[in-house]
Amino acid sequence: MNLPQALLDSLHTVQGFQLDSFVQVHQQAQAPTSIRLNPFKTSTLPAHLPLATPVPWCKTGYYLAERPSFTFDPLFHAGAYYVQEASSMFLALIFEQLFDADQALNVLDLCAAPGGKSTLVASLLNPASLLVSNEVIKSRAAVLVENLSKWGCTNTFVTSNDPSDFTRLAGYFDVMLVDAPCSGSGLFRRDPEAIAEWSPENVTLCYQRQQRILADAWDALKEGGTLIYSTCSYSKAENEDMLDWVTTQLGASSLNLARYGNIPLSDWGIVACESEKGAYGYRFFPDKVQGEGFFVAVFQKNNRPAKYINYPRVKTQKTKTFREESSAFGSVVENLADYTWFEKNGDYFLYNPTHEKDLYLLQKNLYLKKAGVMLGKLAGKNLVPEHELALSTVLSANVPRLNVDYEEALAYLRRDDFMVASPTQGWQVVSYKDFALGWVKVLPNRINNYYPKEWRILSRPSA
Ligand code: SAM
Repeated sequence: MNLPQALLDSLHTVQGFQLDSFVQVHQQAQAPTSIRLNPFKTSTLPAHLPLATPVPWCKTGYYLAERPSFTFDPLFHAGAYYVQEASSMFLALIFEQLFDADQALNVLDLCAAPGGKSTLVASLLNPASLLVSNEVIKSRAAVLVENLSKWGCTNTFVTSNDPSDFTRLAGYFDVMLVDAPCSGSGLFRRDPEAIAEWSPENVTLCYQRQQRILADAWDALKEGGTLIYSTCSYSKAENEDMLDWVTTQLGASSLNLARYGNIPLSDWGIVACESEKGAYGYRFFPDKVQGEGFFVAVFQKNNRPAKYINYPRVKTQKTKTFREESSAFGSVVENLADYTWFEKNGDYFLYNPTHEKDLYLLQKNLYLKKAGVMLGKLAGKNLVPEHELALSTVLSANVPRLNVDYEEALAYLRRDDFMVASPTQGWQVVSYKDFALGWVKVLPNRINNYYPKEWRILSRPSA
């Protein structure tokens, strides 16, 4: 692997950079494979995954001994875990250090697709907190919806807006995560083809765009709120220099994680660095940590948003058909009384009553792609269930399960026809090793497969 000489030359002044070991790790080592468990679905690592060791900074993260074929693991499709490189999981530690577990937070993940950081943040928030996960590029927003649907939370909303649109929600968010689009050098080991796209000119374009994104969305963060900025680039211009830009141009204070307790950064190989103006950042080099190149920094906002918005109170609007809906949803949703729902174009979405106002504001101001858990449509008095409901954390234990073996699970995930004997008919959830995969409708002489067409597996395991 030939790393760009201009990149290597530019890194000599970067704290923690060591040319020989950096070049060597890109020549030799295979990138480690790591996954993060979905704590709402499992607390134990599935036994079939190759021998694992914990990621030290994330309680739900594990390194696998080798990279299995995730495509052919039904538990991957069930949202039991997310495949994520380990350095990014450091966000878990930042959240644990900065926030109390019972704090109700409004969190914006501004550049969220495909959803690695969002699924992690969703795992760390309590039900009263809200995660707004945003992706400006429409096609990428669809992948984000898919991954968050698999994660299954009722307190996650997905939007697809330009960062500047968030000024309409001035001072709304307690935490804003900007995992910025960047020149991507930190992922060269995993994606050598990205090397050809790297250039000093692209680094310049990237940091200019990073500044624009931060400036455009800055008003959305409340005074005293927390900004978490990260990239997967090694370039100083996108990292330490950006910290100085944030402190001088946006007037934020840099937070030193050492202030929050004894985090053994150097034992883990994480490099604590300082910008020219003394702002703090954390660098992950693949020759020092078991993970890919990553940079993260935390700030506190000191100033008020430019405009002051008095957010309206919103009361739950019960629909005329509330009773009928309750009876249709009560049989498929666990503890329905804990939730509320709304209907849009015939589709019903379940969410937490505490987020009534948020729903109203997000619908009014942004392009809302998903709110909470999509339940499905009503046909008469019955629910035609949506795939998302099967994968959600609210699916009732009373919904009949169709237990399948591995081959049947793969047939289901390919959307093939398959037959399993079942004593009952009607809507059932296909279940593999107790993990829900999606819906089927069992008829007297066949089973209709309702796995979403666009999510289906298109290949077969090699013999
Ligand atoms: N946070 C994601 C995760 O952990 O899975 C990865 C985010 S990726 C580094 C950056 C994202 O920013 C991409 O999904 C990209 O489409 C989006 N993006 C690109 N241009 C943007 C812009 N001008 N404003 C906001 N987001 C942008």
